[in-house]
Order: sequence, then C-alpha cells, then structure tokens
Amino acid sequence: MDIERKLKALDRIYAVYDEFVRTRETACTLRCTTCCTTHVTVTTLEAIKIRAALLPGAWESLCGRLTDHAEARRFRPKVTTNALADICAEDGEPPPENAVAEHTSCPLLLDELCSIYALRPFNCRCFISCRPCAETGCADVEEFVLSVNTVFLQTIEHVDAEGCSGNLLDLLGVLAIEAKRRAYAEGSLHCTANGLIANRPMQVLMLPPEHRERIEPILSQLRAIRI
Ligand code: SF4
Ligand code: SF4
Repeated sequence: MDIERKLKALDRIYAVYDEFVRTRETACTLRCTTCCTTHVTVTTLEAIKIRAALLPGAWESLCGRLTDHAEARRFRPKVTTNALADICAEDGEPPPENAVAEHTSCPLLLDELCSIYALRPFNCRCFISCRPCAETGCADVEEFVLSVNTVFLQTIEHVDAEGCSGNLLDLLGVLAIEAKRRAYAEGSLHCTANGLIANRPMQVLMLPPEHRERIEPILSQLRAIRI
C-alpha cells in the first residue's frame, strides 16, 4: 500500500474541507469543547497520520492518556459510511448502532484545547454548529453541511478502502503496536479481530437530489485529487 500517496491525498481532502468551513457562519469558538468526546470515529489512514506526525515525546504522552482512558465508554460504529451508502442504495436496513449517551471528554483535550489540532481527524473537523452545542446538548447543523460531510466521509473511506474504521481511541491503541502498523502498510490488518470495521470503496454517493447541483464545485475539487 502506498501510504505516503494516500496521506498526501488525505491532506488535500482536509484542505478542501477546511476551505468549505471558512465559508460557513458557525458558533464554534476556541475552548468550546462540548463536541470533544470519546465517541469520535476515524479511519486507519487518519490515525496513521496522527501517529506519523507526532514527535516521540508527544506520542508517548498521548499513549499514556489512552491508557488512562482504557475503560472510558465510547461509540463503536457497526457500519462504515460507504457500507451504509450501499445498504441505502439497495433499500436495505442498516443494523442499529450502539447508542452511547454518556458524555466523556476526549482524552486528547488538554486545558480545553485539542492537543493534536492540526492533525485532528475529519470527524473532528466537521463538528460545526450554528448554535453553541452547550445550549441544547446537540449540534445545529445545516442540511447542506450534513450532505457535504457525508461526501467527505465517503471520500476519505474510499482513499483508505484497504483499511479499517473505528473509534479514534481504539484505532490509536491498535496502531501504537508496530506489528499492526506493519500489517496495515502491507494491507493485511484484520479489522474485525482488532475490534474495527472494514472500509470499502465508494460505489454510490449518499447525496439528496436537492444538494447535487450545489455541491458540484466541491465534488470537482475532490475529483481532482489523485487517489
Ligand atoms: S460543534 Fe458545538 S461544541 Fe463543537 S466547537 Fe462548535 S459549537 Fe462548540
Ligand atoms: S481529537 Fe481533538 S478535536 Fe477531536 S475530539 Fe479529541 S480533542 Fe476534540
């Protein structure tokens, strides 16, 4: 697997999304952290990006915080976004997801700031809300933004189609082990055996018809990225 090429594609995808977010009016501010919980999901490629960019001291400290939160309740997805798109395209019924209502702060949050902000995965980048989440307990997100987020989730999974998805804390824990990183690089990391779910290529876009024309400029930017 050419991880370097995939990481470059991931950086470009993040850049396109960050540019999109700059066009939105949001209530998101520094030290607004209600959305920073143990329930974030991520792909292997995004976790590898974090692992590869952190200096040894920072990585050891992150691993220590993961160990301290080993028992923290967390959301573990049952299907990936592309699997969900395939199920919907066939009018199937997706399996019910595990609801985890408990709010536990993300262990990567330090002094109310994300300790890996520049490296944060897409699911953190797309936490945006028109109103402060603390007011209502949930994010207030425009329907169009939800569609854009879904397209990016599908694209990132597509880039990492040979990899896995799962909870951020679980995936960082798996990739802390050198043998597992090697297995991922060789395309032989067993998702299910590691408590993760297998990614798959994007076959169909999960996009409502009313957003198709409006999203086209973003899609053409994504299509220009060599994956
Ligand atoms: S998504 Fe909600 S909690 Fe997160 S920064 Fe924005 S307003 Fe704050
Ligand atoms: S990784 Fe960073 S942005 Fe994402 S939930 Fe944790 S602290 Fe928040």
